[in-house]
Amino acid sequence: MIKINENFLKLQDSYLFSTIAKKVSEFQKENPDAKIIKLGIGDVTRPLAKSVITAMQKAVEEMGNGETFRGYGPEQGYEFLREKIVEVDYQKRGVDISPNEIFISDGAKCDCGNIVDIFGINNKVAITDPVYPVYLDTNVMSGRTGNYNSETGKYDKMIYMPATAENNFIPAFPAEVPDMIYLCYPNNPTGTTLSKEELAKWVQYAKEHSSIILFDAAYEAFITEEDVPHSIYEIEGAKEVAIEFRSFSKTAGFTGLRCAYMVVPKELVGYTENGQEISLHSLWNRRHGTKFNGVSYPIQRAAEAVYSEEGQKEIKENIEYYLENAKTIKNGLKEAGFTVFGGVNSPYVWLKVPDGMTSWEFFDKLLKEANVVGTPGVGFGPSGEGYFRLTGFGTKENTAEAVERIKKLWK
Ligand code: PLP
Repeated sequence: MIKINENFLKLQDSYLFSTIAKKVSEFQKENPDAKIIKLGIGDVTRPLAKSVITAMQKAVEEMGNGETFRGYGPEQGYEFLREKIVEVDYQKRGVDISPNEIFISDGAKCDCGNIVDIFGINNKVAITDPVYPVYLDTNVMSGRTGNYNSETGKYDKMIYMPATAENNFIPAFPAEVPDMIYLCYPNNPTGTTLSKEELAKWVQYAKEHSSIILFDAAYEAFITEEDVPHSIYEIEGAKEVAIEFRSFSKTAGFTGLRCAYMVVPKELVGYTENGQEISLHSLWNRRHGTKFNGVSYPIQRAAEAVYSEEGQKEIKENIEYYLENAKTIKNGLKEAGFTVFGGVNSPYVWLKVPDGMTSWEFFDKLLKEANVVGTPGVGFGPSGEGYFRLTGFGTKENTAEAVERIKKLWK
């Protein structure tokens, strides 16, 4: 008789975005004339850069020509892309990473989810709270947590590190020492960051406890402030304790194309039950080469074009557009009397909902009275209760109008 992986039964329905969609569609049905503005989305809306399209078209032509056709590529990614990544994303920032420490993939979501394969089932896992749900759910699926507790909104055995206004969104070291530590900066959903000094404390902590940091830098391109690290490897010694995830999704609008990469430094080690040191790079190389057959050639050429002079200029324009929207939201909400976080090094604005309201009550009020859609903070974890996420990924016009409506409502 076929048995299932019962860990899947512990998973909670990912009811956040489906509940939002249901509420929005019911409201629209009852109010067909309402012009609803959606600022809840975490997806980009600007079209791809011209240089990306041109590179992809050229690569498609090559695939149709017997002399330049390519079949399976290297599972780890083509050298042309890995070398560009190293040069622009790392060497230019004074970070020494070699191309064979880069693994090209079809998304940071898959990377964050797949990396758990190489770690033992008894590792203790820590996530910040609120959190990008993939880190949590993939550890539930693979059996590193206990059951969900509906009273606390937490899974047993998972270590939650609250990041709220009370601690300035800087999570404290947990009481129980974790082996795997997920950090995402600039953060989704709060839009907040860690300074170099704060991140250095985590690197030191991981060294002291022989833990690993899984550092998600999917929003690195939105950093505008000097003291905010773009890569964890800007911190000395981080190559001994950290894996980094990067994505072209938000950086260059690749959410529909799919390309990302992971950095697994050669220095990184894990341990067997007997205490023997094992290279994590070689484990991941084995995992990646066995279960993944590489990102398509035209997409890797498209990603390479992001690093050209023209490509860099074009993607910066799009990022500035989203950041400008985030600024409009942040400033407008402040004028309306809200306490607001993020939005400076991130497309995400995280606001405190008015006293006495829950995240979902605020969601309903905003939808019904301002026809604006955002994301209730509690959907990202119990410490997100009392907060709300708006994003800069809409159009400039819709963003400005949404902010005006909210201001009118709270005048
Ligand atoms: N990491 C974070 C923090 C994200 O917010 C997202 C997407 O929203 C991803 C990873 C996924 O990126 P990708 O499109 O490369 O799978």
